Amino acid sequence: MTIVFIPKESRAGEARVAAVPETVEKFIKAGATVRIESGAGQAAGNLDDDYTKAGAELVAEADAPNAWGAADLVLRVQPPTSEEAARIRKGAILVSFVMAKDNASLVRELASAGTTCFAMELVPRITRAQVMDALSSQATVAGYKAALLAASGLKKLCPLLMTAAGTVRPARAVVFGAGVAGLQAIATLKRLGCIVEATDVRMAAKEQVESLGASFIEVPGAEDMEDAGGYAKEASEDFLRKQREEVAKRVAEADIVVTTAQIPGRQAPVLVSNEMVESMKPGSVIVDMAVESGGNVVLSQPGETVEHNGVSVLGPTNLPSSLPADASDLYSKNVFALSNLMLGEEGKLELNLEDEVLAGCLLTHDGSIAHEATAKALNEEVTAG
Ligand code: NAD
Repeated sequence: MTIVFIPKESRAGEARVAAVPETVEKFIKAGATVRIESGAGQAAGNLDDDYTKAGAELVAEADAPNAWGAADLVLRVQPPTSEEAARIRKGAILVSFVMAKDNASLVRELASAGTTCFAMELVPRITRAQVMDALSSQATVAGYKAALLAASGLKKLCPLLMTAAGTVRPARAVVFGAGVAGLQAIATLKRLGCIVEATDVRMAAKEQVESLGASFIEVPGAEDMEDAGGYAKEASEDFLRKQREEVAKRVAEADIVVTTAQIPGRQAPVLVSNEMVESMKPGSVIVDMAVESGGNVVLSQPGETVEHNGVSVLGPTNLPSSLPADASDLYSKNVFALSNLMLGEEGKLELNLEDEVLAGCLLTHDGSIAHEATAKALNEEVTAG
């Protein structure tokens, strides 16, 4: 019978957990045994009692290192530290965000220790795997929170109000990037009563933006920058210049700017210059959601609020962890759905690496880095370094 272990997250500021009582019940129903470190769900609002009621065994903090080693399947949100990774039994499975580019030495350690690691950020974005798509579930939470941060940092109201004392004009917002996070930021800003405009390099985003009641900022002569996988390609210098000109006009009028633009595997494009920030009214707010991958705003700093000419530039990090209850609930369901592909009759582990989803997110296996693009990127890094 498969032993599943959920250790307490160890990264500072991480409040999420990789299994909630509802998914513990599902693992048990599938025939697995579930062990969870005491206090693992507390920051997300799930108490030890809730887990034991769901059928999990509690592991005291002092016994946790042994529980890592005894598990067949370890579930995490954040990548383990090197010390934690070393506790995993050879051949056992780790399901976690890994972010290989930022954690190259961990990936090499997992590979050489013989850990079978499935990286949640690598789950293929195909219809069948939507229920396992943790990048989307967490981006949804983050986009919502970014909009709230922008609204609460603003020195004015968001909605149009007609009162006896006069009319309050609605706040204007510009959102850069209409992927999962951007669309949720747009929807939230609309609900708050803002007038919202959005820009993206993928033309498919236009319809989605408009369906939320926002307007799409058209760039004259725009080429479509969508790749075959639905992601953005790196835009040409000419496109970026035209986009800057069009968008700069809207930014100067905006009270709120939320930036979410990313290109997988690359630094985020720089889209908001200091000049654009200086064109905004004092009291306006910019939230740079891409700050952890280099930033869309020249001035943004990870985890800081920079004041410039009366404009606040926020660079929030790990936004999903600031709403840990729903973020954990959704993430846990993603993790269960992926793990369930490996559970056979009576909860036995049956690893079918021919499965398109499992093969797509297999990062390390059998002593080596199994994910081709990651292996290539890390080898190039070794050669270059
Ligand atoms: P992302 O986080 O990689 O990027 C955010 C957005 O920034 C994207 O919309 C991108 O086009 C945009 N962007 C990049 N450069 C830009 C620039 N210079 N200016 C303005 N915008 C720029 O994206 P994401 O949220 O992960 O979504 C990417 C795509 O994948 C979308 O088409 C989304 O609908 C699709 N998707 C599909 C599935 C699925 O089929 N299962 C699941 C999730 C997302």
